[in-house]
Amino acid sequence: MEGWGFALPTTWEELSEEIEKVEGIVVRRNVSLRDLTSWRVGGQVPLMVDVCNLSAFLELIQNLEKGKVCWRVLGAGSNILPRDEGYEGILIRLKGELSQASLGGGGFVEAGAGISLPKLASLALSLGLGGMEFLSGIPGTLGGALKINAGCFGQEIGNLVEQVLIWERNQGLHWVNRVQAGFGYRSSSFKKEGVVLIKALFKAFPDSKEVIKKRMEELQARRAEHQPQGVFCAGSVFKNPVGDYAGRLIESLGFKGLRVGQAQVSNKHANFIINLGGAKADEIRFIIKWIQGEVFRQKGIFLENEVEFWS
Ligand SMILES: Cc1cc2nc3c(=O)[nH]c(=O)nc-3n(C[C@H](O)[C@H](O)[C@H](O)COP(=O)(O)OP(=O)(O)OC[C@H]3O[C@@H](n4cnc5c(N)ncnc54)[C@H](O)[C@@H]3O)c2cc1C
Repeated sequence: MEGWGFALPTTWEELSEEIEKVEGIVVRRNVSLRDLTSWRVGGQVPLMVDVCNLSAFLELIQNLEKGKVCWRVLGAGSNILPRDEGYEGILIRLKGELSQASLGGGGFVEAGAGISLPKLASLALSLGLGGMEFLSGIPGTLGGALKINAGCFGQEIGNLVEQVLIWERNQGLHWVNRVQAGFGYRSSSFKKEGVVLIKALFKAFPDSKEVIKKRMEELQARRAEHQPQGVFCAGSVFKNPVGDYAGRLIESLGFKGLRVGQAQVSNKHANFIINLGGAKADEIRFIIKWIQGEVFRQKGIFLENEVEFWS
C-alpha cells in the first residue's frame, strides 16, 4: 500500500487532510472527551476518526503506525477516566459496517466491535435468540466489552464468544478463539497496547421472544433497584475482591456520599462515583485513589480499578 504523503513532523491539520482522503472515514477536529464519555469528563483531543469499513481501518492504522502517530480506540466511553488535559493523539471509533450485526451461517451472530451492547441484545431479541439479555443493560460497545470481559448478574460476554477478529501490532489481522482470548474476571488477553477488536462471532440459541423480553425486563428491574439511574458515571469503579464486594467494603467504611468538588460516591451504591455536573476528571481520580488507600489501610484489601485510567 502506498503511504500517505506526509513527512514527520507534521501538524494535526496536515494529518487530518491526509486521513480525510480515505474512503469510508469521517474526521472531526478538536473534540471534547466530555462529550464522549459517560462520566462527562476529560479535555480536548485534536482528531477523532470514525472508520466505517475494514479496508478504511487497515489503511488508516497502517499509516498511523508507519508515521508513529499515537492513537487509541474509543467505544462508548463508558469505562474510561480520561485526563482533564485531554489526549494528544487520534481517537478511532468503529462505525458503519464495523458497528453492524447479523445472523450468519451456522447459527452464529456476527457483530462488528463498534456495535452497542443494547443494540446487539435487541437484535438477538428480534431474531428470537437467547443468552444475550444481560448485555441490554451495559451501555458500552462490543469492543470495549470484550476487552474487559464485561458482565453482570453472574454472566460474562466471554462465555458467549466463539471467535474474535483482531488487528494486532506486528501481526496484522487474525482470528482469536475463546481459549486464546483468555477471558477472566474483567480481563482478557486483549488488554494490552496495540490491539483493535474488529468483530466477533457469537453462539446463540433459539428461544421464545416473550421469554427473552421478560428476562431483559427482570435484569433491568434488578439494576434499577440497586444502582443509580440517569446519572453521569462509569458503572462499577472497582472490581470485586475475592469473596467480597467492593461496594459493601466501601459502604462499611462510611464513604457513601463522600464528595470532592462535583464528584460524589453514590448514596445508592458505594462502588459508583457520580459526576454531579461539571466535575473534573481529577476530582474523580482523587476519590478513587483515596478510597483505594483507605480500604487498604483499614481492611488490608487492595481494590483494583475496573475503570481504565487514560494517561
Ligand atoms: C451506567 C453504567 C452501567 C454499567 N454496567 C456495567 C455492567 O453491568 N458490567 C460491566 O462489565 N460493565 C458495566 N459498565 C461499564 C462499561 O459499560 C463496560 O465496561 C463496557 O464494556 C465498556 O465499553 P465501551 O465501549 O464504553 O468502552 P470504552 O470505555 O470506550 O473503552 C474501554 C477500553 O476499551 C478499549 N476499546 C473499546 N473498543 C475497542 C476496540 N474495538 N478494540 C480495542 N479496544 C477497544 C478502549 O480503548 C479502552 O481501553 C457500566 C457503565 C455504565 C456507565
